[in-house]
Amino acid sequence: MSLYGVPRYRISRAISTFLRSLPRRCKHTSPDKVPHVAIIGSGPAGFYTAQQLLKGHPSVRVDIFEKLPVPFGLVRFGVAPDHPEVKNVINTFTQTAEKDRCSFLGNVTIGKDITVSELQKNYTAVVLSYGADADRTLGIPGEDLPNVLSARRFVGWYNGLPEDKELPVDLSCDSAVVLGHGNVALDVARILLTPLDILKKTDISEHALASLAESRVKQVHLVGRRGPLQVAFTIKELREMVNLPECRTVINPQDVASLKELINDLPRPRKRLTDLLYRSGCEPAEKDVKRWADAVRQWNLHFCLSPQEVAASADGKGPERVKFAVNRLEGPDLVNQKAVATDAVTDITCGLVLRSIGYKSIPIDSTVPFDADKGIIPNKNSRVQGTKGLYCSGWVGRGPVGVILNTMTDGFDTGKVILKDMEEGQLETTGKQGHAEVKDILTQRGVEIVTFSDWEKINTSESEAGKKIGKPREKITDVPSMLGVVKSKPS
Ligand code: FAD
Repeated sequence: MSLYGVPRYRISRAISTFLRSLPRRCKHTSPDKVPHVAIIGSGPAGFYTAQQLLKGHPSVRVDIFEKLPVPFGLVRFGVAPDHPEVKNVINTFTQTAEKDRCSFLGNVTIGKDITVSELQKNYTAVVLSYGADADRTLGIPGEDLPNVLSARRFVGWYNGLPEDKELPVDLSCDSAVVLGHGNVALDVARILLTPLDILKKTDISEHALASLAESRVKQVHLVGRRGPLQVAFTIKELREMVNLPECRTVINPQDVASLKELINDLPRPRKRLTDLLYRSGCEPAEKDVKRWADAVRQWNLHFCLSPQEVAASADGKGPERVKFAVNRLEGPDLVNQKAVATDAVTDITCGLVLRSIGYKSIPIDSTVPFDADKGIIPNKNSRVQGTKGLYCSGWVGRGPVGVILNTMTDGFDTGKVILKDMEEGQLETTGKQGHAEVKDILTQRGVEIVTFSDWEKINTSESEAGKKIGKPREKITDVPSMLGVVKSKPS
């Protein structure tokens, strides 16, 4: 017997093949089989991982946990206030957060309010994407003096990070030293030197603006261990410094003269950067020379100096100078040459020191493997070593380097790895209830969870406050006030 010419045995074989495949195909649609993923940290890594998961799976539910009541990590608290265009990624993150299958649980500190193991009990997969909340230290005498600060905390201070709002920043000195040659070093130098009228129109926090209004800092020295071919900052940030209104660029021509003959052989991004360094030191444009002649502030770029000690002022209330060893560069590969200290020393007078030598991650839960030397969670392709169902993404897994674009790729990759493990049946979905269960635990512990619509109340309140004073937003800088807005305003 046949149906439309297809033999019956073939039809029944096709039906049974289809039926056999059903449990696997529909694994994610039965309510008990819906995978729940917990993401720890609402920075770019967390949001891009969530985006990939939601796009790649028809029923997965994603919960993003964040220790602060406000989302977006370093996009809110790191990116410089005068770079608003960089913050446009928030629009994409908002679209993700507003999806039915995504929840934001703010004001929940993982490792304190709830453990990673408790999350693992309730989630198919847990993603650690909590960034790098600490900074590297120099380990030199005088590093603990008042007004010797980490650039990380200084950034937090002007960006309204609650824990840094009270940072004792004293801008009553003429001169500041910034240790480091990365983009964060240039960010902090630029904030110190930018005319107030420009900063006033950004979302810089009011307490920082008030302090900068009284600032007497006229000169910022940016000091790096290696040479002009090894700087880690990028051309956009350097160009901004060179073009900074009312500010002179000072690069010793001797430091950059030899670059001229190397420029053409360098790979493209380094080529343009090196060309600008060379021209700014040796052949500045006529318009810049004119502008710099009238400048009231200046920044100096110093190379091949390693800090040895921060010497205190006579009253001990802050730094008076930084003492440096003069380095020479060694190694055949010019761009990767190493700095080696010579016997020569020098110093720079200053009343403020900002240390910008890198961020590092910290462990948040003793059950999660952590490589203390590298300051990351050990992982292979985002899978945390030795722990099934535990993943990492972004700076906490890769180290604190790279811009949002790199973190996006990382987040997408983590999402794909989780989807693959789900597809291959590697992860447990049965009995995993996601935040239904976890919310109860948190509520019993007295944690006030902030949802994404709660955040939108904070967002509106900040935008309205900013509008009154001609700023895109005035950030709320302490957690109780954020929670106050959530409670006081109608949805
Ligand atoms: P983060 O953005 O740090 O996010 C981690 C999140 O986890 C935070 O919200 C944190 O509060 C949360 N968290 C931490 N611990 C816990 C916990 N225990 N429980 C719950 N939540 C927790 N890139 C650019 O492309 N352009 C720029 O202009 C730019 N400027 C920068 C300026 C500075 C000062 C810095 C430091 C970086 C800048 N970057 C910039 C790089 C960019 O910010 C990073 O690539 C990106 O933010 C890293 O994302 P992440 O999600 O890994 O970490």
